[in-house]
Amino acid sequence: MNVVAITGKRTCEIVQRPDPCIRGEFVKVAIRSAPMCTEVYGYRDGAVSDCLGHEAAGEVVEVARPGRVAVGDRVVVMPNHGCGQCSQCLSGEHIHCEHPVDPYQVCGSQTGRATYAQICIKQDWLLVPIPEDISYDHASMACCGLGPTFNAMQQMAVNALDTVLVSGLGAVGLGAVVNARCRGARVIALEGNEYRSALGRAMGAEAVIDPRDEHRLERILELTGGRGADKSVEASSAETAPAFLIQATRRKGQVASVGWGGPMLAREIVGKGLTVHGVWHWNHYRDTDAMFTTIRRSRDLLDKMITHVFPLREVARAWELQLTGRCGKIVLHPWD
Ligand SMILES: [Zn+2]
Ligand SMILES: [Zn+2]
Repeated sequence: MNVVAITGKRTCEIVQRPDPCIRGEFVKVAIRSAPMCTEVYGYRDGAVSDCLGHEAAGEVVEVARPGRVAVGDRVVVMPNHGCGQCSQCLSGEHIHCEHPVDPYQVCGSQTGRATYAQICIKQDWLLVPIPEDISYDHASMACCGLGPTFNAMQQMAVNALDTVLVSGLGAVGLGAVVNARCRGARVIALEGNEYRSALGRAMGAEAVIDPRDEHRLERILELTGGRGADKSVEASSAETAPAFLIQATRRKGQVASVGWGGPMLAREIVGKGLTVHGVWHWNHYRDTDAMFTTIRRSRDLLDKMITHVFPLREVARAWELQLTGRCGKIVLHPWD
């Protein structure tokens, strides 16, 4: 099968690798849509690898034994490989699994972890069936495109009365705009890149403020009657972003971080009575209907958010575009 390999700084190629092997509850999925995420940093820095990507939607093409899915099923591929047996996995929180498994060891396979590839392998219980009326590209947004910020909205019960502050309008933060708008909330965003600021506004953010603006806090207070945002989502991974969101959120408000950068301020969290959520992914045992309802009701916004689609063989062009910052979410098609 065709697989993307980073071979040096800003160089990559399509290489041939053996098809993966499966065993037990693992199945083979032919990847139809592979959204691009943080792999671009490895491309920029020359982190040599032929195992790239963690987001995919595709079609089941082989099962090792009869189970939860069958050949021909259209599925979203959830990230990572939980054990399926710890209390986290059993409650749909597999992303926080206590004992993740190595699919190569379980299956005796040398490939199948990557999603910048034509075929991946996954346990059947980590595949979410896609409703007939939803395309692969839109369904694949249930990975990082919408997934983490969707769960942030679930945790904070975001609704039409809220003003939501979104920090960062990149490949994850743009999804926060979709999720918040789908719930009728008002959105204020922080983003310094001009292209993404314009995209955020086109997707329904009422105001987009440059995080380098020294008056950014005053501007947010002006827009919120002097109180601050009701609920905030950190999706930039910038070092100073979590502490700033804590400042810019109102007393007794909520802050969710899906970004992994920066310290928080216990003093302000306690003093303002804030609720803080750490959110990695979403719970597909509990919230699959809500996720697909979000996708269904946000088709127009998703078409704006997915700014580019490339065949896998043009991955270098896609990465170069990502490095310019002049894109929203990019999706690769491995079989085109
Ligand atoms: Zn587990
Ligand atoms: Zn991702």
